Amino acid sequence: MNRVHIKTYGCQMNERDSEAIAAMLRARGYTIVNAEAEADIILLNTCSVRDQAEQKAIGKAGRLLKDKHRATPALSAPRLRVLGLMGCMAQNRGRPLLESLPDLDLLVGTQKFHHVPDHLDNLLASWRGLGPRPSTLVELDTEADSQNLLRGHSPGRQVSALVSIMQGCDMRCAYCIVPKARGAERARPMEDIVDEIRGLAATGTREVTLLGQIVNHYGKREYPAVAGKTPFVQLLERIHAIEGIERIRFTSPHPSGFRQDLVNCYRDLHKLCEHIHLPVQSGSDQILRAMRRSYTRDQYLRTVNALRAAHPGMCFSTDIIVGHPGETDADFAKTVALFDEVKFDMAFIFKYSTRSGTESADMGDTVPRDVKESRNQILLERLAATSLARNQTLVGTTQEVLVESPARKGRDIFMGRNRGNRKVLFPGNAAHVGLLLPVRVESATTTALQGRALA
Ligand code: SF4
Repeated sequence: MNRVHIKTYGCQMNERDSEAIAAMLRARGYTIVNAEAEADIILLNTCSVRDQAEQKAIGKAGRLLKDKHRATPALSAPRLRVLGLMGCMAQNRGRPLLESLPDLDLLVGTQKFHHVPDHLDNLLASWRGLGPRPSTLVELDTEADSQNLLRGHSPGRQVSALVSIMQGCDMRCAYCIVPKARGAERARPMEDIVDEIRGLAATGTREVTLLGQIVNHYGKREYPAVAGKTPFVQLLERIHAIEGIERIRFTSPHPSGFRQDLVNCYRDLHKLCEHIHLPVQSGSDQILRAMRRSYTRDQYLRTVNALRAAHPGMCFSTDIIVGHPGETDADFAKTVALFDEVKFDMAFIFKYSTRSGTESADMGDTVPRDVKESRNQILLERLAATSLARNQTLVGTTQEVLVESPARKGRDIFMGRNRGNRKVLFPGNAAHVGLLLPVRVESATTTALQGRALA
């Protein structure tokens, strides 16, 4: 009765938290199963970035709770014993969630993940005692240092690993619920992070992606600048020195925290891959002000140009919200112009949706749905064209590819990423996994490059 299935919604931070929770549970003797149907315990790690994400998890929990009470033909008793909700939505909505999900067993916020094994032990003990079902176990209060306890990784070799370096965000972007769900910015100790990455390198990890809601603010409270370098740059330099690590990536930075010391890293630290995810959200200063993004269009473009000067092969991805309250056709035209000027390789484009509890929610949802839809379509079409054009410039070149796994489709086709974070597909074999291979690019689509591994 200790098979646990963890379903993760949302961002890479959530994926990483779920991985660390799974590692703690394995260490406590639980078995992590991939299929819901096999599980005695299901934990939903939730996302709060949009109302839709929350409704999805609530719907799922409601269906699972129904199953929980229904005996399966094979088993006299229901298989599912424990259902828990964790993460951003649990933190953001809190106890009122129990009104719509009264039979939930566990409700754990973003800063109490390290208590999940104890809670499951207690819940199962009550099951075994066949004692009365305890009321829902709820833990939502904050514990700043809890993130230091989430170090575990999946068993076996990970060619590319996610590493959380900080939690929370002090910014107050008007449309965003993250500061409420994840709390104030707090950094993990630099020693802990370096130690964790050394451990990963020793197991064969070649690439690390540093995670945080606003990574370039890492350590601003905890560490002083040294020789004009921010704590984040100091951390990058320490990771750069770790033997075995060949590639470093990070997400998400905030344009406002981009200083010259960080830009120089793209010139000086060869392991730092020349791809950056730099959310812009809008190309209109009026909308950036309404969003409280604390930078202007020109400042954003200056950062992009400085990065391209530091590394001419720089690749960019971004986040854009269309239809934020107050967005006019003229505002949107400025977003399109910026989009064309930067020539993003990849972009996540979102139609604004009201997020209760945010400042933007008080501005009213002023842009009609069909207008949001058409603006979204316009950017998606531009993205497809730009992405294809940029990929086609790589045909005939040789790309360094970190081979991750067999591709989903195609016999003997393997998948990896070039330094620009582009997916590359090529005929290969299992011995290639984990290697940095030169691949000659023979063709390109909007989303991937195809080629041949050179000897
Ligand atoms: S920087 Fe803004 S959008 Fe990003 S997590 Fe912080 S408040 Fe949200």
